[in-house]
Amino acid sequence: MMSDWNTRTKLVHEGIRRSQYGELAEAMFLTQGFLYPSAEAAEQRFLNPTDDEFIYARYGNPTTRMFEDRMAAIEGTEDAFACASGMAAINGALTSLVKAGDHIIAARQMFGSCLHVLKVLQGFSVEVTLVDGTDLSAWQAAMQPNTKVCFFESVSNPGLEVIDIKGVADIAHAGGAAVVVDNVFSSPIYSKAVELGADIIAYSTTKHIDGGGRALGGVVLGSKDYIRGPLETYVKHTGGAMSPFHAWIMLSGMQTLDLRVRAQAANAELVAKACDGHAKLQRTIYPALTSHPQHGLAMAQMGSGGTMVALDLAGGKEAAFKFLNAMKIVSISNNLGDAKSIATHPATTTHKNLSEEERALINITPGLVRISLGIEDGNDLLTDILNALGAV
Ligand SMILES: *Cc1c(COP(=O)(O)O)cnc(C)c1O
Repeated sequence: MMSDWNTRTKLVHEGIRRSQYGELAEAMFLTQGFLYPSAEAAEQRFLNPTDDEFIYARYGNPTTRMFEDRMAAIEGTEDAFACASGMAAINGALTSLVKAGDHIIAARQMFGSCLHVLKVLQGFSVEVTLVDGTDLSAWQAAMQPNTKVCFFESVSNPGLEVIDIKGVADIAHAGGAAVVVDNVFSSPIYSKAVELGADIIAYSTTKHIDGGGRALGGVVLGSKDYIRGPLETYVKHTGGAMSPFHAWIMLSGMQTLDLRVRAQAANAELVAKACDGHAKLQRTIYPALTSHPQHGLAMAQMGSGGTMVALDLAGGKEAAFKFLNAMKIVSISNNLGDAKSIATHPATTTHKNLSEEERALINITPGLVRISLGIEDGNDLLTDILNALGAV
């Protein structure tokens, strides 16, 4: 690894494996299997493969490995394992760490599918306690002798609560638990998760890392012992590995990741500042606004407010729908981190499976609209959003 390079250089060059043809771009090895020169070589490879030897694409593939090496290099972890989707990564990270009788503490404000994985684990006798993730005393109070994992989104979907990675890590580590961070909303560009004490970091690469809304993917990052031990063993045998084609798409997306995410965050800040205090809004939620409850923490932890803004329309669902339907550039969809700006109404889509009480507890109001800012011209986006608010 050329770890003295800075992130933007690593995003373009790190992890490349070239074949005998010396191709310039990352090659796509669209093969599930690999030839062994002899029966003895096959035996040897199953016993102890070198870093350059592959067995089956569910275990690993040269294109997938390029993506894993590049991700580990920019996040600053020893290793990474590429998964079929963000949820395959989260499921792999959590399930590989616990067994019946163990305990997980998780922040209650989370993506609906993350909450579903916790429900599945409860069905297999894993104890789960949901806490207000922003309240360190709640994490402390929930710790038990059998607590194995503390799990949270460092910036929550969709309410943009910012959780103190170092604060939770100190509590977890004192009790012998591992810290698993879903870091999608911060993106690798604003992540200091390793230096703040996270043990395991997961991304949905479907979001900023692809950046073009093309392919599903996920990745789990951590120590070599964990990634090539329990995590790889679980994911490779249960079928959640990333396809080489998707790894190839992610490698090309990564080349522009830093440029895109910084442009998106600049657009998010422009829009959030202009919307803050707007008459049609109950609240503008953006971590870089001083009104955000974890503003100081967000700036220290990420150095940016990120690429997402949440607007809570005072007129509830009706106003939210009018606003969504009036925008011309910002599309209605549920991806995020895309080059295109996208708006979502969580209460009726991504978080519709929660009960009304569950939604109220995590501030998913009927008027809440989550906007993922893209890389379009900031003034065009601002005009689109302000015109649509005016039409409500
Ligand atoms: C999208 C998302 C996921 C799931 O990722 P997929 O690639 O859709 O499986 C998990 N966590 C967060 C915070 C997300 O935004």
